[in-house]
Amino acid sequence: MATGSGDVKMAKVLVIEDNPANMKLARFLLDKAGHTVLLADRAEAGIALAQDERPDLILLDIQLPGTDGLAAARLLKAHVRTSDIPIFAFTGLAMKGDREKIFASGFDGYITKPIDVSLFLEQIAGAFKPGS
Ligand code: MN
Repeated sequence: MATGSGDVKMAKVLVIEDNPANMKLARFLLDKAGHTVLLADRAEAGIALAQDERPDLILLDIQLPGTDGLAAARLLKAHVRTSDIPIFAFTGLAMKGDREKIFASGFDGYITKPIDVSLFLEQIAGAFKPGS
């Protein structure tokens, strides 16, 4: 990860999300902040991209057609190429049981949808703070 001007950390962020509106907004905000954005609308394509590109952070939707986000997180954490990459769940699910399932699947954190435009980039930056 390169350090840009001031305090801003530029990162390569992979967004795996099947909802076009969420993907578009996430891409817009990340792009505007100077991050490199990689996109996949299916877990299978996202996992392949993660292995090739080794992003600094993966934002992973839970409800995806085919392999869902929980299964995808387990696969990513089990693979030597991607096991060290932080994964944030990108989810509308935030009930207590859902959080437990998310962390049990290997996620490092989560960002709730709908995206809060005023908080989103701070939430992304939180992925890179030691101990967070
Ligand atoms: Mn979805």
